[in-house]
This record gives sequence, structure tokens and C-alpha cells, in this order.
Amino acid sequence: MIINNYSISSVLTSQRQYFATGETKSIHFRRQQLEKLKSAIVARQDKILKALNQDLGKPELEGCFELAVLQDIEYAIKHLPQWIKPRKVKTGLEVFPSSAKIYSEPLGVVLIIGPWNYPFSLIISPLIGAIASGNCAMIKPSELAPHTSTLLTELIKDTFSSEYISIQEGGVEVAQELLSLKFDHIFFTGGTKIGQIVMSAAAQHLTPVTLELGGKSPCIVDQEINLKETAKRITWGKFINAGQTCIAPDYILVDHAIKKDLIIAITQCIKDFFGENPSESSDFARIINARQFERLRGLLNSGEIIIGGDTNPDTKYISPTVLDHVNIDSPVMAEEIFGPILPILEYQTLDEAIVFVNSKPKPLALYFFSNNKGKQQRILQETSSGGLCFNETIMHVGITELPFGGVGDSGIGAYHGKASFDIFTHYKSVLSRPFWGDLNWRYAPYTQKTVKMFKKMFANN
Ligand code: NAD
Repeated sequence: MIINNYSISSVLTSQRQYFATGETKSIHFRRQQLEKLKSAIVARQDKILKALNQDLGKPELEGCFELAVLQDIEYAIKHLPQWIKPRKVKTGLEVFPSSAKIYSEPLGVVLIIGPWNYPFSLIISPLIGAIASGNCAMIKPSELAPHTSTLLTELIKDTFSSEYISIQEGGVEVAQELLSLKFDHIFFTGGTKIGQIVMSAAAQHLTPVTLELGGKSPCIVDQEINLKETAKRITWGKFINAGQTCIAPDYILVDHAIKKDLIIAITQCIKDFFGENPSESSDFARIINARQFERLRGLLNSGEIIIGGDTNPDTKYISPTVLDHVNIDSPVMAEEIFGPILPILEYQTLDEAIVFVNSKPKPLALYFFSNNKGKQQRILQETSSGGLCFNETIMHVGITELPFGGVGDSGIGAYHGKASFDIFTHYKSVLSRPFWGDLNWRYAPYTQKTVKMFKKMFANN
């Protein structure tokens, strides 16, 4: 461990020295590095899909979703000149003559720690922001997706010098060692409990953090819907990556009048998507490891199984499962499910659903299915969540210009598109004055004339 710590801190020292050369700051350099990252990913597309399949049994199309980072790279390359431009702001008479501008400056060396569920894109996506804003970065992928971790290591080492972008593979010990060091920003994606550990370690160095966390994202279903479309979009959002998605609809809160129909429609969708026996479908992923498998298997007793409930520890398979008659105090409602188990709860009035959601920690995503604009407005105004979709699940994460992140227990900060650039940037306020034209009003001895002038000026503002 000591040797490891020594090597990590010496890599960090070399990164600090490299950052100090100023090389990472030019727009030309940043765009060049983004181009290199893009080419490295394009050249390894098949390997990436294979690693994701080996780690999670991820179907090819779901693996392709992780390759959407290529679009984010393109977006950053295109918009960088605009983002990087100093922004002029107005100055007042009191500093006449002067000019004031906001300059973007990179933070230094940043740390990125990733989870296992989208193990490729959730490392590369923040890295795009770190590179675009001119930083050096140290990366730690999740040890629980070992094939992707190995592939990321090969990709990063082949593409960048370690003094610019470095990668540290390993588990909790490595993460803890990294957290004992001083970085200029920590970008963490993972569970809420570990997020607390990260934030408290960062506090020791006053290091700012972005925490992309999880939690239970509710899906509220009103009566005024297109039943078939609703069922399709919920079923897809819940069972993609076998439910191991931070913004998967965690549970359904459905208007009691439509509950029976919704259950029938979702049951039908599961059959349409994955056939009579989903274990034979190549379009359904597996649980990441035995620990998660056992945790999820334990949740199956939390209600009446309407469909699914089949498990196989050898292949870490849990079939798409719907639970009815779930008690709100049962284990499945106590924590983020993060697997292919969908509890269905009912409500009598929308008020009741809103009160229920608001009684829980603020979720990363909230889904509301209803064509009624008035009800949509109520959900918008009366609830708080990282993101919100009307009549859709998950898809908001793919819209580059929508900042993605949580609120309250579901996270701190947001990224994607320009927001990723902002996260790793310090906006430096710069006032610039010539030596001529000073009105000398602020220097002692102060006069009543100046006091009066100021009182008048502020009163008129
Ligand atoms: P996790 O918190 O267990 O692990 C995330 C990372 O933290 C890993 O790299 C791990 O090695 C490291 N880690 C583990 N224990 C640590 C410790 N004691 N100290 C320091 N670092 C430690 O999360 P996970 O199981 O990989 O991912 C699942 C969670 O992540 C879910 O809660 C999910 O909702 C959330 N998540 C959030 C987003 C998002 O964008 N908001 C995306 C994906 C996953």
C-alpha cells in the first residue's frame, strides 16, 4: 500500500508539474486532445462493446448508448471557442474609466471516480469536460467492471502521457488513497453513502466536489395517458441494463383507476421485448456480481410477484419482475433498487402522490405520465428532483444541452455540454483600469459631498 501511495502521489506531482508548464491551456491543445480521445474510442468501438458485454452482459445496442460520448466530444470541440472566450460585463461610473471581463481558467489536476453500471461513459463523459477546460486528470474506474477498467487503462495509456491524464485501477483502498491527496476538483459518480465519504475527504483539502449520486426515482402515472406508449417507455427505462441505471424508474405510483390496465400493459411489453423466457433473450443484461444479485434476490419478497421473479445465481440472472401489493415500509421501498424489480404502488389523488414523493429524499429523476398540462404544471411546481420528464423515461440524459445532475441527496452539481466545461473551470473576474481619469472620490479625507453623491446613487439604483 505504501508503495502504491507513493506511486500515486508521485504521478500527481508529475501532473502538477506538467499543468504548471501551461501546455494544457491553449485551445489548440485542448481540441487536439479531444480529437485524440475521439480517435482512440472510434478505433476501439468493438473492444468497448465486448468489455461491457463481459462485465454486465450488456446487449450491443445498450453498449452503443455508452458510445454516445463521441457526440459529446464533437460538441465540445465545436463549442470550445465560444466557451473559452472572455465575457465582457458592464462597469459603473464609480470605476470609470475601466473594463471588466470574466476569464475561464482551468482548475489544475482533477480526480474522476466512476461507478460500474455505465463504466465506460461515466468515466469518459466527465473527462471530456476536464480536457475541454484545460485540466490534467487522474481517473479511477470501478473495480467491479474489470474488463472495462482494463480497456480504459489501455485506452488512456496509449492516448495520453501519464503526466497529463493518468489512470489508477483498483478498489476501495486505491480510492481512499486518492482521496487522501489534494486535487483541485473531485468528480464522483456512485452511491449516496460513498458520496458522503468523498465529500468529507474533500473537505480536508477544501476541494470542490461534483457528486453524481443515485436514489429512488419515482414514476407517477396519471389516468390521462396513452396506455401503450406509457407502458413501453416505462418498461424500457426500467429494464435497460437490467435496471442498473441511476435514473431508472425505481417504482411506479399509479392512479388506482388505471393500475390494473397498466400492469397488463407492462406485462405485455416485457413479453414483447424479451420473449416468454427473458433468460434466452440477448437483449437483457445480467447483474454485475454475486453481492448485488443476493441483495436483489432478497427484495423479491417485498410484494406479490405479478411477472418474473426467476433467478439464476450461476448466470447472475434476475428476470424482469413486477411486484404488486407492496407495503411502503417493505425493504424494496427502503433503498434504491438498482435492478430489474419494479414495485407498483397506487394513489387515490395526485395530492397523495405528490405528498409521498416529497416525503422522500429528492430524487435524481422524476417521471410523470399524463397529457394533462395542469397536472404537469403541478408536478413541475410542487416537487423537486435532479431532472424531470413528462411522458418519457431516461432520455433526458442524452440531451447534451440539458445539465444532468441531482439535487439534495441525489447529488451536487450537474454536467454535460457547457455544464461539463463549467464544472472544471474557475471563472476569474478581472477589472482593468488605465492610470488616467481617476475621479479621486474614494480617498480620505472623505467629504459630505461624496457621501451625499453615494446616497443618491444607491437610492436611484
Ligand atoms: P459506489 O459508490 O459503490 O462506487 C463508486 C466508486 O467509488 C467506485 O469506483 C468505487 O471503487 C469507489 N468506492 C467504493 N467505496 C469507496 C470508499 N469507501 N471510499 C472511496 N471510494 C469508494 O457506486 P457503484 O455501486 O459503483 O454505483 C452504483 C451507484 O451509483 C448507484 O447508487 C447509482 O444510482 C449511482 N450512479 C449515479 C449516476 C449519476 O450519474 N448520478 C450514474 C451511475 C450510477
